[in-house]
Amino acid sequence: MERREFTKTLASSIGILSLTNGLGQLGDITRKNKLGIALVGLGNYSTHQLAPALLETQKCELKGIVTGSPEKVDKWKKIYGLGNHQVYNYQNFDTIAINNEIDIVYIVLPNNMHNEFTLRSFAAGKHVICEKPLAMNTKEASEMISAGKKVDRELFVGYRLHYEPHHRETIRLCREETFGKIKFFEGGFGFRIGNRDQWRLKKAYGGGALMDVGVYVIQAARYTIGEEPIAVTARSFKTDFDKFKEVDELITWQMEFPSGAVANCTTSFSASTNHLFVAAENGFINLSPSYTYREIKGYTRDYNFNFQRVNQQALHMDGISNYLINGEPHLNVGGEEGLRDMRIIDAIFSSVEKQGEKVNILRK
Ligand code: NAD
Repeated sequence: MERREFTKTLASSIGILSLTNGLGQLGDITRKNKLGIALVGLGNYSTHQLAPALLETQKCELKGIVTGSPEKVDKWKKIYGLGNHQVYNYQNFDTIAINNEIDIVYIVLPNNMHNEFTLRSFAAGKHVICEKPLAMNTKEASEMISAGKKVDRELFVGYRLHYEPHHRETIRLCREETFGKIKFFEGGFGFRIGNRDQWRLKKAYGGGALMDVGVYVIQAARYTIGEEPIAVTARSFKTDFDKFKEVDELITWQMEFPSGAVANCTTSFSASTNHLFVAAENGFINLSPSYTYREIKGYTRDYNFNFQRVNQQALHMDGISNYLINGEPHLNVGGEEGLRDMRIIDAIFSSVEKQGEKVNILRK
């Protein structure tokens, strides 16, 4: 047998094995009151947002950690009451398949590792939440979605803002055309990035402003306008050629939608911006700051929004768990949503390469 064929056969046997494990578990899932989540990657977002949020969730709880840093383990075990059997590293991760306490693997790794760990999680029979951006590109994202379908497991993206009240209300006002038809969107998300050695400044890791925070602006333009863009023009600008030698520093792009609506968007690793503005025929909605998990503020032409701050991460993970347990629809945070954004990201990079030429966004 050729090596490639052997690897393929082995992979599918592992797939079948783990699917058998997993199928039993799927039966259990709807009988559970709370699902178990394993966090993969114990960096900033896991440590300061997701794990604390899992202390507030009603439908899921932290049941495992996966880390390449043994020095972090004791602290996590102590804070979250975890035992040795709930701690994995990247090498023995696949044995998570036989841990029935864990229903969902939440991938919180650098972007170039999202695809690998999603495929490994599906092979282990688990559902997956993967952080944004879903993958490095459209091809990887499609592969992740297919892998989930093959083993009857679900893929979700860490799109927490779908569970945030200012965003929910903005979407409602847009869908109901409270201010008429939407004509124009303007949005930007950027911050001044520090440490020059971090993975967010490395191309191989899927770094750059667009992949990191620009994706929120793509999302917001899509869910306010409520259509899929058909074409994009984009340009990239740099002021620090050393710091940003591998990745984008600032990109501006414009998206055209089938109704004629237009979105003007910016993302940056050197300028601080955090806003969205939707202009309709008879009024507007403004959110600023808009994409943070701290306090969001907003107003329409006629009134101020007055929503309390919520724990977006807790609501997001509970929403997904409630969907898996009870079939209650989640708020549009499935893998397909991440794939749609990857298509746009690919088109933006393609337009940048062509010095701002218009690029059509392919659906398939
Ligand atoms: P981070 O750098 O703080 O953490 C990354 C983790 O991955 C660390 O624990 C690190 O040890 C581990 N890792 C494993 N292999 C690595 C390697 N080869 N190089 C570098 N780190 C490696 O990053 P973060 O801010 O926690 O981001 C992780 C993911 O979460 C990213 O995909 C990011 O886009 C996403 N994120 C999402 C939000 C959100 O609001 N949804 C916020 C922050 C980050």
